[in-house]
Parts: sequence; structure tokens; C-alpha cells
Amino acid sequence: MALVERSLLGPGPSNTYPEATAGLAAPLLGHLDPDFLTLLDETGDRLRTVWGTENSRTLPLSGTGSIGMEAAFVNFVRPGDVVVVAVNGLFGERMCDVASRYGAEVVRVDHEWGDPVDIQRVLDAHPDPALVAAVHAETSTGVRSDIAGLGAALRERGERTLLLVDCVTSIGGEQVELDSWNVDVAYAGTQKCLGVPPGLAPFTVSERAWERRVEKPTTWYLDLGLIGNYVNGGSSGGRAYHHTAPTAMVASLHAALGRILQEGMPVVTERHRAAGEALQAGLQEMGLNLFAAEGSRLHQLTSVWVPEGVDSAGVRKQLLNDYGIEIGGGAGQFANSVWRIGLMGNNARLDRVEMLLGALRKVLG
Ligand code: PLP
Repeated sequence: MALVERSLLGPGPSNTYPEATAGLAAPLLGHLDPDFLTLLDETGDRLRTVWGTENSRTLPLSGTGSIGMEAAFVNFVRPGDVVVVAVNGLFGERMCDVASRYGAEVVRVDHEWGDPVDIQRVLDAHPDPALVAAVHAETSTGVRSDIAGLGAALRERGERTLLLVDCVTSIGGEQVELDSWNVDVAYAGTQKCLGVPPGLAPFTVSERAWERRVEKPTTWYLDLGLIGNYVNGGSSGGRAYHHTAPTAMVASLHAALGRILQEGMPVVTERHRAAGEALQAGLQEMGLNLFAAEGSRLHQLTSVWVPEGVDSAGVRKQLLNDYGIEIGGGAGQFANSVWRIGLMGNNARLDRVEMLLGALRKVLG
């Protein structure tokens, strides 16, 4: 079957940066080849810059964003630990599930979907949890939460609680400053604003979190101590084989990060802002209503109510078949009442906005 090109304007994956595609097609290297190890080291450096962190333990894990979530909980939660999870969408829900599988005593702080995380409610949920977890950019609703505020509030209360943040949809799409926001553990995915295919989970750990990690987590594959012996070198300074790193994917991520940093994060952030605001204004001019709370709307992912009487899935099908445009349905209980439109990475451009609005106008008649 011949595959045709699509405009991937849903919640991810997004169309890749040309540099990321070229990285995939570069000559394949072995996972212990010195040239590959240099590429891996540089990828860590580039991730540190994009994420605003000095964490020496910053690496791409092999697997999609959910592997990052899994690794975060399995390496930093012990059975019986109190873990407060801010739930304002599907991925906060998933965090509760994952944390409880590793024995955490999960304290949920439920929010209306479409609202940002309420810092005071998170603080009030428990006086001294081992860990607080939140999603920076909730892809299921199109909402950004104030992680800087949450980190500052937690640190003001004491040193014990670690802050774990999901950056899957924020990395590469907006300014993220993990160190000054007091984030201890963060993970991301490659298929959204980084403009790389799905398959890697950038991951980073602060020094103080590292000191408190689980020495022998219940999973071998995601044991950060073992992976670190390969990525950062073991005590002897050598690189010990752990698993066969997906070298082509790392080359792709390395190339995309190079492109993003050449453009500069402030410029990339502004490109996402301009595209997202143009889309949101255009949708409202068409008479559509936005789903996410005003003031907390992501630029890279817009959620919009499906107009009364319109067949949500039918519109998505027509956009795909007639225009080659993919957009997403809503998540959870909003599956049929909300559409999600992504302008991520290489798609954060005004030409994509006009193309989508034009096609949507035609389909809605
Ligand atoms: N967290 C967020 C905020 C996401 O948007 C996603 C995927 O859409 C994930 C986690 C899970 O990532 P993946 O589907 O790549 O495993």
C-alpha cells in the first residue's frame, strides 16, 4: 500500500522537521560506536539547553512518552510513599494509575478538565508527600499549568517533596526552565513539538532526586542506574552495554534539537504563540467556542467544542480523506464533543493555520 503524505494537525505525532527526517536516513551507527556515543552526549547537552537544566543525568530513554512516565515513578516511588497527583486531564489520570502500580499511596487532586492545576489545592492535599506530580501541558484538554509557581510553593514549604513533571507537549514548543522552576524529575516525548517521530522519551533527574532514587527498581529495562552506566559511563568511566539503543532515532532527535537551538527557543516559542493565537482567533471568528480556560490555553494544542448537531467523527474523516489533514477527537468523556488541533514543531506556522481553517470552513459548509 502506497502511503500518502498527511498534514498531522492532531495531538501528535506532528510532521517532522526536515532535519529530523534526514537524521533518520543518515548511515546507521552501532550503539557503542564512538561516533554514536559523541552524538548521544551532544543530544544530552542539547536537551539540557532546551529544558533549562544543568542536570548531568539527562538522556533519551528508548520508548514513547509513557516510558518516561513509567521510569519516573518506578525509580522514585517506594511502596507506601504518598504521591500527590494533580489531575486535570487524561495524562494526570494515567499518572495515578502508574504510581499506584508501583505501590504509591496516591492522593488525587481532581480538577475540572479544561482548567489549569490549582496550586493551593495541591498543597492542601497533603502536608508532606514524597512526591508531587503534574502535567505541564495537558494534551487532552489544551491547558498549560503554572509549574514555576508549583515548584516555588513546594520548595518554600520544605525540602522533602520531589516535583515530577510531564513535559511531553511542552518541550520544544515553549520556554521551559526546569532548574529555576525547582523540577526534580521530568520526562517528555519526541513526536510533538520536537518534530521527531514517536519513539524516544527525553528524561532528566536533579541531583537531589538522584540521591533518593530506588536502588533496585522492580523493572530491569527502566533501571536508571543501569542505563546511566551506558549513557554517562560507569564508575570505571567505560560505557557498559545495557540495551541496543535505537541509534537512528537518537540521530533524528539530535538533528531536530540542533535545528531548534539554531532557530533559538525564544523564536521557536514565538512561532508557536503566533500560530496558536491565529488559529484560536480564526476558530472563534467562525463562531466556534474554545474548550480550555482562557488565560491557560496552550498555543501548540487547541481544543475546541464541536458545534451543536455536527458529526465530530464525520468532519475528521472528511478532513482526512478530502484534504489529507488529521486532527484529533477529544479525550475521555469529550471524545465526540471536542476536537483537538495541534500546531507543533514544524507545523507551528501560519500557512498551516490558513490551510486548516480553509478546509474546516468548507467541511462545515
Ligand atoms: N503525557 C502527555 C501530556 C501526552 O500528551 C502523551 C501522549 O500524547 C503522553 C504523556 C504519553 O506519550 P506516548 O503516547 O508517546 O506514550
